[in-house]
Formats: sequence, structure tokens, C-alpha cells
Amino acid sequence: MSGINYNVHCPNCGHEDASGYTDSKPFVFTNIDCFECGFYTTTSIGQYDLEEVNKQREWLDIGDPLDKLPHLSKHLTKLFE
Ligand SMILES: [Zn+2]
Repeated sequence: MSGINYNVHCPNCGHEDASGYTDSKPFVFTNIDCFECGFYTTTSIGQYDLEEVNKQREWLDIGDPLDKLPHLSKHLTKLFE
């Protein structure tokens, strides 16, 4: 990972030195850990199934339904296992 670490205000307990981490690869995400109260945020990835994708495509009027979905890239799934 190539992101940056910094201190952040904990949104749960107000501790001023919770740990923040932001990275921009492979996409922008931020995680927070507070070791005063245990609050944390985490980033997860997933993939909608074909039915959900096509339902959203129809609702958003963004094109014809898809016949199948591509697999998620291994470089993404490895990072967030
Ligand atoms: Zn906290």
C-alpha cells in the first residue's frame, strides 16, 4: 500500500489521535482506527449479482441489460481479503 497515515478526530469518543489511513490505489479509500474506544471503519469490496446490476441499470436508464458480469480483478480481491 502506498497511502498516508495521519491522526484524526474519532467520531465516536472524540479522541484527537485516532489513526487515519487514506490510499488512492487501487481506488480512493479511508480507514479509521481508534484505540481509545475501539471504533473502526474498514473498506470492503464486492460485486452485485447480475439480477441486481440489471435492475439498477433499468432504474437508472443506463443501457440494455447485461448477459453476464466480468469477474472481479484479482488485484482488487487480494487487497481486501
Ligand atoms: Zn474513539
